[in-house]
Amino acid sequence: MTINKLKSAGLKITNQRVIVLNYLFNTQERHLSAEDIFRDLRLNGEDVGQATVYRVLNQLEEAGMLERHYFDGSKAYYELSSNSHHDHLVCLHCGKIIEFFDPFIEQRQQEIAEQYDMKLSHHNLYMFGYCLNPDCHRDI
Ligand SMILES: [Zn+2]
Ligand SMILES: [Zn+2]
Repeated sequence: MTINKLKSAGLKITNQRVIVLNYLFNTQERHLSAEDIFRDLRLNGEDVGQATVYRVLNQLEEAGMLERHYFDGSKAYYELSSNSHHDHLVCLHCGKIIEFFDPFIEQRQQEIAEQYDMKLSHHNLYMFGYCLNPDCHRDI
């Protein structure tokens, strides 16, 4: 599966790309920083360097296999590209990331773009806040 996906994205099959992609296909967490990915790969006993992981993530993003997000402004988070568009709600305290899709918001964005004579290619909508769940900010 991983190898076919690399092929259809037009990328050469290298060990490092297969290792990073296999990890992303198999992990439960959908949004991960390069640091998270590197740490988990090492914990899994993979022999990959940090610079390699960063480079592979860039290549996969350029090939359209990953989406890159800057939820907190500085650190990049990666997720596997999917056919279904979604936006994100981010907790500023615990870092929880919730995916949502709202047809009304999507449609309004189209209308706003048209109103300003623009054809939308894509958008990123991040909403920030704090979980109401007491498990999140009990320690504030
Ligand atoms: Zn939270
Ligand atoms: Zn997402």
